[in-house]
Amino acid sequence: MQDRVRRRIGTGLIVAALIMLGVAIAMRFAADEAAERHDRVEQTHAVLDLLERSYSAIKDAESAQRGFLLTGRPDLEMAFFANGPESRALAQTLADALAEHAEQQTRARRFASLIDERLSVAAEVLKIYRSEGLEAARASVDSGKGLELMLAIEQLRDEMAAAERRALSDRNERADVAAGRFLLGVELGQGLSVLILALVAWRMLVEMRQREWAESETLASNQQLTEVVRDLERRNQQTRAMTEFAGMLQSCKSVGEALGVCHDAMLRLSPATGGSLYLMRHSQNLLELAAMWGEPEPASASFLPPDDCWAMRRGQRYQVSDVGSATACAHVEHADDVQQGSSYLCLPLIAQGQIMGLLHLRGSEEAIDGDAAVAGAAAEQLSLALSNLQLQESLRVQSIRDPLTGLFNRRYLEESIERELARCQRRGLPLCVMMFDVDHFKRFNDTHGHDGGDALLAALGKLIPTQCRAEDIACRYGGEEFTIILPELSLELAAQRAEGLRQAVENLQVLHLKERLSAVTASIGLAAFPGNGQTSQDLMRQADAALYRAKREGRNRVVLA
Ligand code: GH3
Ligand code: MG
Ligand code: MG
Repeated sequence: MQDRVRRRIGTGLIVAALIMLGVAIAMRFAADEAAERHDRVEQTHAVLDLLERSYSAIKDAESAQRGFLLTGRPDLEMAFFANGPESRALAQTLADALAEHAEQQTRARRFASLIDERLSVAAEVLKIYRSEGLEAARASVDSGKGLELMLAIEQLRDEMAAAERRALSDRNERADVAAGRFLLGVELGQGLSVLILALVAWRMLVEMRQREWAESETLASNQQLTEVVRDLERRNQQTRAMTEFAGMLQSCKSVGEALGVCHDAMLRLSPATGGSLYLMRHSQNLLELAAMWGEPEPASASFLPPDDCWAMRRGQRYQVSDVGSATACAHVEHADDVQQGSSYLCLPLIAQGQIMGLLHLRGSEEAIDGDAAVAGAAAEQLSLALSNLQLQESLRVQSIRDPLTGLFNRRYLEESIERELARCQRRGLPLCVMMFDVDHFKRFNDTHGHDGGDALLAALGKLIPTQCRAEDIACRYGGEEFTIILPELSLELAAQRAEGLRQAVENLQVLHLKERLSAVTASIGLAAFPGNGQTSQDLMRQADAALYRAKREGRNRVVLA
């Protein structure tokens, strides 16, 4: 296509150049023709001049001869003899000059011979005049021979002049026609070459436009391609990050770990957005901020009523491209960093039909649109993982914790005491066992009912850990009895702690159904490794015996084994 157009343009330019060359050559010929024409005119004038001069000379010769006959003046005879030969010579020159024009040359020769004849008649008369006198000469003149010849000469002169003028006019006419044609040709040639050049210019213009258009098209498609490639690369990265995220989530041992993994993964999956993650409380009435990421982190409230979010209310994703123009969630509308035109996405974290939390992303419309799909996939993975982890956690807690007090259960105590004791034995460190029993709990139950008793036990479940170190293991042994393992603690220090706990129980105030329950006391028995025994059973038994003694000695006291 391009080649064809280029060939056409080239051909057009060559044709135009050839036409111009033709016109130039034709003009050159026309100039030569004009010069030749000028020469011909000059020649014609020369011929006419020779003719006229020859004729004048013969006329002058005749007049001189006639004057001489009338006057006998010798100067006139001399004039005759001067003009006569001149006329003859001129006629001869004329005949020579007309060599290329046969007809005119014939006439010229005849003209010359008539002049000759006329001159010889005149010379004869002069001869008679000299030999026989004037009368005889006149008589010979009167024969009319000279007059006749002069008339013939004059007629021939007119004929030749007319022929010469006619030839000139014919030539001029032909030359005019040729010049007219030539001019027409030149004009046509020039017009044609101008037309061809205009066509070529137009074609080139069209070609340039097409090329510009094609170039801009190429540029646009290149840009599109680059964008597609960039998009593909981004999606590839997202897929890799997503796979890694899912794998990491599966290896998480706790919700806390999963939150950390989610934080890092979201930074990679959606680097252009900021996000926050809320977890639903067990009560299902409040969302709690659990993680935040991005640059900048979106302003997010620490707690959020689920009704403040459309995604939570409807149980499905909610995306807003322009906060000013669409119904935005209350938690977004009230955020400090939200401006008109900003975009966000809320994704409910749902697994097994239960709402686990909320994934919230904020950023430009482009970023939100671009990452909505990957965020949705991440939310699904996270929901499943959170559901599994929470289930695992609740199972684990159920298996080792007492539901009423939240303290460890007896099974966990029996497991732990062996482990802790072995560790302390290995390292030559002490370990204490504290037995704790609420005094007159039966009576308390009688006074405040079983629910009141439960409320007290739950309050103790919260109080006891406040009196313990992180490494202590507080358990509900059964009923209103508690056992606390205190690793790496001497009997003296353990006794101080037991006393602290006893006092704390004494000062404990419990509200149940807006009613303050009566104060309670507790008795505590304390045994220590290695002093009171080497095995867990020995230690437990010694602690229990000490507790029994505390009861017997009047309750509300600490007794060491
Ligand atoms: P003391 O220990 O001072 O000798 O008297 P006490 O009244 O505490 O004696 P005892 O150990 O015999 O009574 C324990 C009571 O605790 C018996 C039972 O009704 C009550 N109890 C055990 N488990 C629970 C429980 O889970 N909730 C409530 N409300 N009461 C419980
Ligand atoms: Mg008791
Ligand atoms: Mg008891």
